[in-house]
Parts: sequence; C-alpha cells; structure tokens
Amino acid sequence: MTKKEMLYEGKGKKLFFTDDENLLISEFKDDLTAFNALKKGSEEGKGALNCKISKVLFDLLEKNGIATHLVQVLSDNEMLVKKVSIIPIEVVVRNIATGSLVKRLGLTDGEKLPFTLVEFYYKDDSLGDPLINDAHAMLLKTVKDVSELDKLRELGNKVNEVLVPFFDAKGLILVDFKLEFGVDKDGNILLADEISPDSCRLWDKNTLEKLDKDRFRQDIGSVRAGYERVLNAILN
Ligand code: 5GP
Repeated sequence: MTKKEMLYEGKGKKLFFTDDENLLISEFKDDLTAFNALKKGSEEGKGALNCKISKVLFDLLEKNGIATHLVQVLSDNEMLVKKVSIIPIEVVVRNIATGSLVKRLGLTDGEKLPFTLVEFYYKDDSLGDPLINDAHAMLLKTVKDVSELDKLRELGNKVNEVLVPFFDAKGLILVDFKLEFGVDKDGNILLADEISPDSCRLWDKNTLEKLDKDRFRQDIGSVRAGYERVLNAILN
C-alpha cells in the first residue's frame, strides 16, 4: 500500500491518501494536546502505544458486531483504515463523574453515575467542542435525521457494554471515553478515529491511579508509563 499525500493533520493523527481511493493511512503522532490545544507536549512512543491499544479495542468491538474503520495495522504507528466522512459529533460516554461533567453540573468527582450517560459535543475547535442537544445537532446539519442520533447513542452504549467488562477483567475502570463515527461510501456508520488513553479515562481498579491523558492534563506522572500499563494489561 503506497502512502501518498497528506489529507488531514489533526492533534493526534495524520491521515494520508493511498493508491486505493477508499482507504487511508492513519498515522498516530507522539504529540499531546489538552484544553483545546492550549497545553501542548510530546511523548516519544505515545503514537505507537495508542496504535496498538486501538488495534486491540477495535478488534474486540468488531468481534462484538460493531463495525470499525480499521482494515489492518501497517507499522508501529500506522493503520490502514476505510475512508469515511466524519460525523462532526463527539460521542462521549460516561460511567463515573469526572472532568467537564463535574465542572458543569457540580457532581462529586469519582461518583458512579446511576446510568450510562451519553452526550454529544459539536466537533469544532474554534467553538471549543460545545455540548449540544439533538435539536442543536439537527440545526447544525451534523446528521441527516434524528434516527442517526439515536443510532450514535445506541452505538455509544453498545461500545460501553463491551469495553467496561473487558477492562474490568484486566484490572481497569473505564471511567469515560469519546468516540467518533464516520459514514463510508456505502452509507454505513463506522466507528472511526481511535480508542486509546488519549480519548478514554482509565483508572487502576485497586488504587484508582489515573493511567490516561489526565496524567498530561494534570501533570501527575509519566504519560508513557501510564499508557504502557494500559497496553500490558489488555494484552494479558
Ligand atoms: P471531558 O468532557 O470530561 O473533558 O471528557 C470526557 C471524555 O472524553 C474523556 O475520556 C476525554 O478524554 C474524552 N474527550 C473529550 N473531548 C475530547 C477531545 O477533543 N479529544 C480527545 N482525544 N478526547 C476527548
């Protein structure tokens, strides 16, 4: 597969065209950003760790009937993926109150939520990815109809139902995570982007130690060491 010119560069990944118009190469970067890129950093090997972690999780989700954009891993930090048109909605799924939810609603940090909360954020850096409701999503023409929003909510819940027991068995708590979906050339909704400690909060079940990007956000320890612990846990 030939890697051709770059299509897009995001905060965590670059996307490249290939000689197949329906396939792209997703290259995971070592760059770290937080607070809408107000805080920037880099950690050698972070991209490769996220690529490996995403591969394990995408494979697990595929096995459980959730279609993803992953075709195959090409190198330490490159994946061949199906080309999709990204739906500009970040689907955030929460099991435990923390982060922006606590700031917004004044809940107790670390409180287990009585039900799985699925939220939509409008993917727009210039607006700071605002929380939106279904009417806003329609107004912004992010999806073609309301049933697509229901589908995103259903997929968010389904991914959670697969990942929570998986991580639990590996000694990790899946606190919350962000998903992105895209529509392929045949109109199928595929799980895209990545699922990694950049986009999930994962805590050690016994010590509640944070093993995800909060280590970078809050300067609470080596990012690489946290991500390596996540990878080792899910490979065992
Ligand atoms: P919060 O809204 O509390 O900041 O984030 C909720 C969850 O979604 C966390 O797991 C966080 O990592 C993830 N998340 C929210 N927005 C983004 C984003 O723009 N990029 C990434 N990679 N993850 C996000």
